[in-house]
Amino acid sequence: MSSSPLVELFSSIQGEGPYVGYRQAFLRFHGCNLHCAYCDTVQPNSPACCRVESEPGSALFSHWPNPVTLTAVMELLSGWRRRSPGLHHSLSLTGGEPLLHRDTLLQWLPELRTLFPLYLETNGTLPDDLAAVIDHLDYISMDIKLPSASGSPPLWESHRKFLENAVEKELFVKIIVAPDTPPEEIECASLLVRDVKPTIPLILQPVTRNGVPAVPSQLLLKFQEQAARILPDVRVIPQTHVFLNLL
Ligand code: SF4
Repeated sequence: MSSSPLVELFSSIQGEGPYVGYRQAFLRFHGCNLHCAYCDTVQPNSPACCRVESEPGSALFSHWPNPVTLTAVMELLSGWRRRSPGLHHSLSLTGGEPLLHRDTLLQWLPELRTLFPLYLETNGTLPDDLAAVIDHLDYISMDIKLPSASGSPPLWESHRKFLENAVEKELFVKIIVAPDTPPEEIECASLLVRDVKPTIPLILQPVTRNGVPAVPSQLLLKFQEQAARILPDVRVIPQTHVFLNLL
C-alpha cells in the first residue's frame, strides 16, 4: 500500500496568485531543496506525524502517525467532498517542494485527481521531476526565485527548463520581491518568461515580514511597470491569507 510522510492536510483559501480566494484542500509534503530567506514553512526532515483537519474550516486537528497511506488521504478527502459538495476548487499539492516526492506523486495523483483538480505549488527548480508527473496535473503555480529576495544562488537555467516543461498546462509564475530587489532581476525573470511564452501571467508578490507586505508601494508599482514593458499580464498580489489570519 502506498504511503508517504506528510506535514499537514487542511482546508483554506488560496492566499496567493491569480486563484486567490478560491477554497482549496491543501496537502503539504515535507522537505525542500532550497533554503529561501523568507521561508514561512516549517520543514521537518522526518515529521513523526501529520496534522489533519477533521472537517474543512473547523480548525480542529488530529495527528496521524507518518507515513500516511493514500487510502487514508482518499477517505478523508472523499468525506469532505461528500459533505461539502462544490466547496473546494482544487487540491493544492504544496510543501516544501512536492516534486521531491516524485514516486509518491506518480502513484497518488491519478487517484487524487478523481476527487479534485490538482494544483501544484512548486519552486520551479526540478524540471525532470515535473516532466514525470505533469500528465496528472491541472494547474501549476511556479516560483522564479530572485537571488536578492530568496538568498539562493541564481537558478535561471533550472527555471528556464522548468518553464519549458510546464507551459503545456495552465501555468502562472510568481516572483517574490523584496525592498532591495534590483531592476536587473525583474528584467531577467520577465525575459525568461517571455522567451518561453509571453502570455504566461506573472505575479509580483511583495515579501511578507511580521504579517505585512514589506515592499514600499511606489517600488511595487515600479517593479510592475518594468515587467509590463516585457510581458502583457503582470499583477501585484500580496499574500492574503496572512492578513486574514488563515492557514
Ligand atoms: S522553496 Fe518554498 S518551501 Fe522551499 S525554502 Fe523556499 S519558500 Fe521555503
